[in-house]
Amino acid sequence: MMIVMTPDATEGEIAAVRSRLESVGRLHVLVMPGELTTAIGAIGDPEGVAELGLEGMRGVDRVIPISRPYKLASSELAHHEPTVLEIAGRLVGGGDTFCLIAGPCTVESREQTLTVASAVAAAGASMLRGGAFKPRTSPFAFKGLGAPGLEILDEAREQTGLPIVTELLDVQHAELVAEHADVIQIGARNMQNYGLLEVAGKLGKPVLLKRGLSSTVDELLMAADYVLKEGNEAVMLCERGIRTFETATRFTLDLSAIPWLKLHTHLPVIVDPSHASGDRRLVGPLSRAAAAVGADGLLVEVADDPEAALCDGPQQLSAGDFGDYARDVAAHAALTGKRLA
Ligand code: PEP
Ligand code: MN
Repeated sequence: MMIVMTPDATEGEIAAVRSRLESVGRLHVLVMPGELTTAIGAIGDPEGVAELGLEGMRGVDRVIPISRPYKLASSELAHHEPTVLEIAGRLVGGGDTFCLIAGPCTVESREQTLTVASAVAAAGASMLRGGAFKPRTSPFAFKGLGAPGLEILDEAREQTGLPIVTELLDVQHAELVAEHADVIQIGARNMQNYGLLEVAGKLGKPVLLKRGLSSTVDELLMAADYVLKEGNEAVMLCERGIRTFETATRFTLDLSAIPWLKLHTHLPVIVDPSHASGDRRLVGPLSRAAAAVGADGLLVEVADDPEAALCDGPQQLSAGDFGDYARDVAAHAALTGKRLA
């Protein structure tokens, strides 16, 4: 931490800050008088310094953190090598493979889910997505089939061999969802549901953590720390678009976040172009862009009959178009040296 004093801070005020820092014990404290202001460096134990409440002391102008606020998700601290997850034989992350997670927004029926599952499996998808418990903005909208939806997903896994990615919406369903899912999705609206993140971290299944609607990438990585600190190292991050002033698309896909995350974290980065755009005509171009800037995979919505879908119809690709889509994405993933997993 760096504590910057105001230009008119007195010697006594500087000494008071210094002695409060020294009271922590484990810190190296360095007072650096400048031409206009004095800065005080405090090296070691940033959490301990943050708890001192130095901002409120007389003569303190600002307190600037030097180390990054996320720890376990950071590629700077303990973990330099990219994390590679293996999910039922499919690799995610690591620089050589690209993972295509595809399927309906919501499990609506057995027939619908099995049809989409076999179409995406045939076109090279590595996992099947589908929500049984859906977060809906209106409490009166269709919220998914719940437990029977999970059983349909089991059947889709049996028929296609594809591992299942499905959302855990609420701690009360944690054990149930973990019994059926190969990957537990934490939705954008729950990214900062810290209790849920800790529960998800204890379930012994990989977690796909979606970025919150209005969350910074720092906040995303701190949310990932909540899962990682439970001893679960199998976390993938998902950029799914954020709220900006732009309303032409449903959200704004933050393409810059992809190479930024690849620089600052060891965790795999998955991109969801479907919820970001809200428009199937944009899903192909955004997917190709995400692959070209280094994403480790995509999470994309595909329906057998998008016009009849009960949820997110306008953004779902048609199962019949998925083969061409996957081929184009694979060509763009190849630009960064990745092959479909
Ligand atoms: C989803 O992927 O099913 C979903 C609801 O997405 P998000 O949480 O990103 O809105
Ligand atoms: Mn959806």
